[in-house]
Amino acid sequence: MAELESLEFGKSDFVLLDEVNMEQFLDNLRLRFEKGRIYTYIGEVVVSVNPYKQMDIFGKEVIESYQGRELYERPQDLYAIADAAYKAMKRRAKDTCIVISGESGAGKTEASKYIMQYIAAITNPSQRAEVESVKNVLLKSNCVLEAFGNAKTNRNDNSSRFGKYMDINFNFNGDPTGGHINNYLLEKSRVIKQQEGERNFHSFYQLLLGGSEEMLRSLHLKKDIAMYCFTREGSMSSDDKSNHKAVLSAMQVIGFSSEEIDSVYKILAIILHLGNLVFDSDLDCVLVHSENSVCQIAELACTQPDVVRKTLLYRTVATGGGEVIDKGHSIQEASFGRDAFAKALYERLFCWIVSRINTVIEVKDYNPLLHGKNTVIGVLDIYGFEIFDNNSFEQFCINYCNEKLQQLFIELILRQEQEEYQREGIEWQHIEYFNNQIIVDLVEQPHQGIISILDEACLSVGHVTDTLFLESMDKKLSKHPHYTSRKLCATDKTMEFLRDFKIKHYAGNVTYSVEGFLNKNKDPLFQDFKRLMYNSSDPVLQEMWPEGHLSITEVTKRPLTAAVLFKNSMISLVENLACKEPYYVRCMKPNEVKSPVQFDEQRCRHQVEYLGLLENVRVRRAGFAYRQPYARFLQRYKMTCEYTWPNHLMGTDREAVEAIITQHDFQGDVAYGLSKVFLRTPQTIFTLESKRAA
Ligand code: ATP
Ligand code: MG
Repeated sequence: MAELESLEFGKSDFVLLDEVNMEQFLDNLRLRFEKGRIYTYIGEVVVSVNPYKQMDIFGKEVIESYQGRELYERPQDLYAIADAAYKAMKRRAKDTCIVISGESGAGKTEASKYIMQYIAAITNPSQRAEVESVKNVLLKSNCVLEAFGNAKTNRNDNSSRFGKYMDINFNFNGDPTGGHINNYLLEKSRVIKQQEGERNFHSFYQLLLGGSEEMLRSLHLKKDIAMYCFTREGSMSSDDKSNHKAVLSAMQVIGFSSEEIDSVYKILAIILHLGNLVFDSDLDCVLVHSENSVCQIAELACTQPDVVRKTLLYRTVATGGGEVIDKGHSIQEASFGRDAFAKALYERLFCWIVSRINTVIEVKDYNPLLHGKNTVIGVLDIYGFEIFDNNSFEQFCINYCNEKLQQLFIELILRQEQEEYQREGIEWQHIEYFNNQIIVDLVEQPHQGIISILDEACLSVGHVTDTLFLESMDKKLSKHPHYTSRKLCATDKTMEFLRDFKIKHYAGNVTYSVEGFLNKNKDPLFQDFKRLMYNSSDPVLQEMWPEGHLSITEVTKRPLTAAVLFKNSMISLVENLACKEPYYVRCMKPNEVKSPVQFDEQRCRHQVEYLGLLENVRVRRAGFAYRQPYARFLQRYKMTCEYTWPNHLMGTDREAVEAIITQHDFQGDVAYGLSKVFLRTPQTIFTLESKRAA
């Protein structure tokens, strides 16, 4: 069966390639893509190629056919990975995680949804109401998070503009009892500006096009996306209206109160009205041009128009002598403040939605003595490596995140593999791989790393510019093998190149423009806006802005910068993943035009390179694709050998396993460890499986 599969549909596991090289890898990938085989293994890692068409491989019957079968018994599928993670969790009480990576549009979010659907489908056979309700909330949370966190980009019509990690908790029965969602770095700059052909977050269009007349009237909005600066760049989608309904109902199912739902839409409306505010100057003071909008914002934010106007036009500053004065903004400052406020409002709204969902799904009253060990499956759906023509602070953070995940991949898959051979006393042919710790250090090391240098620049007093930050990096990092300043390598001495630096990432070289780094890192928001929101009589708004209770003289501590917050969240994410048994889904995008038939070889080659897939195959091949404790192996295959069926009379299980291996003439493919048998190729397992079924 395995042989047939390989002739017609390509090799189902890249480990089976005749030779491990890019050409063979791509040929196999192309053949399988063309034959509708979108999943291929590398050992226990699944490589997935976006089919850009509905496949009939998902559904209830398919799910049923997967249950209770081993990874090697089934065609390649995401369900197999979900099932393996689930079984490890249930049978061995192991915390597991499924890490889904790949570039934008590669299919990560779709994959994560299939995985969650699978887990939902196979659990709670007795249909207990409280478990069904947890499952329902977990599934519905996707719909809400996508509305507020996804947007149409030029690469993906439904692109996640945030990273997401979701833990699903299980009780000793293997039924979901709750969960927790962590979100990472929402691309909030999208709220105020979108590139040509892109849209703002879906939520705005859904509200404008799907909101009832009554709702829109109460929010002082018109059903016309062209009327609002923040939505007019984008175009309508035929799904906006129906999605609005779905999101509204999902929020209700999750347990948002009607007041909370009202507040959510009020905040969206405040942001849209803010976008239309124009400032003007009259003699020596700045005015808000659109007085009507100010009143509407005040009404929606449950505060007074005077306070809103003042917050938009002035900031409170403490003078050296301890005096507090109101300082008027310039037009530029007022516009900057308005934009920062709109972005912060949206970001806080998103974080509040996540934490609101978390309060519903968090495991309550779990008593391990009563309920047994509480185990977890984590699902990570996070942005892949990004190289654009123009790379900025956001790409820097995203690529740093990918360095951390690659580091974890190396740690978990490569190093643990080697360590296991050592532990089992198996001879190991050392294989060289690139350890990217050096790049992780370049970014995150205290004092010397790029984030530290950036922070130092942000915290220094006086006028520090992006260029000074670049110079400071050049001074400290010029000898680092993975860092190059354009200044150092510019040959033509033109000034245009002086604002870039380059990092040699594990996935390739990326040139970053320092422009805006300082500002994006400081992410400043005038305190007055925080106080405005805190003093709102809307409890949801107030809850979102707790630090607004501080008066100007009490605000002394600088908030942590964006890069430091991101670094801290990445470190804790990696720590969290590192103590779990990992399963990987590596998603690939076959072409740039969303075609179900086009296999763009150059694009695929690039992705194979930066996902480190060839290296992954090499490690798998250098080692052993499959391993199993003697007793388990024996249990599964004892019926294939006359000396072991129904029971063996040999001294140890290992001897019995040796008898099976010898009977089938697999000696060349096997090594015997202290507690496990190791099989070099999956082919051997396929053959054993077919003998078992015969
Ligand atoms: P981003 O990083 O931008 O969020 P992503 O990797 O999460 O991208 P998805 O949103 O999952 O990408 O997929 C993009 C689109 O590709 C989907 O909207 C869908 O049209 C298509 N797609 C992805 N996976 C599948 C699949 N298994 N079957 C059918 N279509 C798919
Ligand atoms: Mg996504």
